[in-house]
Amino acid sequence: MACELEHGPPGVFECQLCSLTAPYSYIGQKPPDTESVILLEESYIMKDPFTANKDRFLVLGSRCSLCSRLVCVGPECSLFYSKRFCLPCVQENIDAFPREIQQDLEKRKVPAKKPVNKPRP
Ligand SMILES: [Zn+2]
Ligand SMILES: [Zn+2]
Repeated sequence: MACELEHGPPGVFECQLCSLTAPYSYIGQKPPDTESVILLEESYIMKDPFTANKDRFLVLGSRCSLCSRLVCVGPECSLFYSKRFCLPCVQENIDAFPREIQQDLEKRKVPAKKPVNKPRP
């Protein structure tokens, strides 16, 4: 079982939807070594490994505000609409989201579950 500590020691972030894993160095809304960055949500953050500039950081993901599942910020796993929502929760509550979010989601959808027994002309 995963450790549920919100502010535990740095460890490894794991997306519960796509199983992306990456070591994080900080959880919270204000990444260390940044002067004026305040994030909109509590996030799992790692220092950007591709630059020596210590102001640079990457947001790995955060918790879904509905089911508190840990999800990455990838477009197939979550979206941010004033709070973080994992896509399964968005799908369940799609009517509560504005039209532009619904349309955005339609675009993201992988056409895998589409019924293909439609008669062809
Ligand atoms: Zn993911
Ligand atoms: Zn969720």
